[in-house]
Formats: sequence, structure tokens, C-alpha cells
Amino acid sequence: MRFRRRSDEASCREVSRVLQAYLDGQVDELSARRVTRHLDACRRCGLEAEVYVRIKEAVGRMDGDVPSLPLARLRDFARRLAEEGPQASEPPA
Ligand SMILES: [Zn+2]
Repeated sequence: MRFRRRSDEASCREVSRVLQAYLDGQVDELSARRVTRHLDACRRCGLEAEVYVRIKEAVGRMDGDVPSLPLARLRDFARRLAEEGPQASEPPA
């Protein structure tokens, strides 16, 4: 893992705060670049981003009838994935 503590580097906390907006293309270009760079360098956030992408894809497939997703639970799931790896985790019921 590369951690260059520079002012143009996003922190994990910053990335998790803007991750959903980032994946929706709703952040400005500079922020997007910072996040992209962080996701490259940080496995934990990279995994979380991957989970969000999968969630978005799954939601996109439910055309029209989108249930209110328990996002907090999906978020926990993403965190567990990042901490324990895919094998150790079970998907949310
Ligand atoms: Zn991170």
C-alpha cells in the first residue's frame, strides 16, 4: 500500500464520504481525480467502491421496481469485505 501524505491526496474518510457521489458522476473533476488516485492506492476503499458499483448494477437491473435498499447494511457489508476478504463474508440477507 502506498500512502503518500500529501495535501492533494484524499483520506479514507474523505473518500468514503464522497464515494457514492463519485460513482454517480456528481463530484467535480478535481475531487474525482483525488478519489480515483486513492482507490488505486488503497485496497480497502477500492473494495468498497467495487461493492458500490455492484450494488448500482444490481439496482439498475431491477427496472422500475426499486425497493428502498438498506444502504447502511450494504455499507457494513462492504466494510466487512474490505476487512476480511470476500470468502469470510456473507451477503446481507
Ligand atoms: Zn482508503
